[in-house]
Amino acid sequence: MQQIAIYPGTFDPITNGHLDIISRASKLYNKVIVAVAVNRGKTPLFSLEERVALVSSVVTGYPNVSVIGFDNLLVDCAKQHGATVILRGLRAVSDFEYEFQLAGMNRRLAPELETMFLTPAEQYEFISSTMIREIAQLKGDVSCFVPPAVQQCLINKFSRS
Ligand code: ADP
Repeated sequence: MQQIAIYPGTFDPITNGHLDIISRASKLYNKVIVAVAVNRGKTPLFSLEERVALVSSVVTGYPNVSVIGFDNLLVDCAKQHGATVILRGLRAVSDFEYEFQLAGMNRRLAPELETMFLTPAEQYEFISSTMIREIAQLKGDVSCFVPPAVQQCLINKFSRS
């Protein structure tokens, strides 16, 4: 059976932690769709188009990974694309409560979809997009946390502000 997993998130911006999850997922599922959320609750640093372009540029090495932007309910987006698995990354204990609640809500909305969690390699566990944005804004070096293309976009973004 073709197993399609959807990996949703804000990816503002994509980090080496996200990429580690994508790499692991690409070996487990026939197809992985990275779904970049508009996210009206947050005010992202990068526009949806920029985030989709950035993710697309760093997943070119994975032939079974594709990237989309979405603005509707995740479970509807998953069904539209034939996904049966919602993939999320788990870092420290702090992620657990939110992720547990989200998985529960999505199960109530669409019981046929299964949420699966992957943990990143140790060196990526502490990386968060929020911290990357803060470090980059203060002109810190983020080269060991994000791919080079993302680092360049952060430099460009903050040199203009
Ligand atoms: P969201 O706003 O949906 O939380 P994020 O882009 O912050 O979007 O995260 C998307 C998913 O990736 C979440 O499941 C999050 O826990 C996971 N994630 C974020 N950073 C990492 C990391 N460093 N290692 C593993 N998973 C991560």
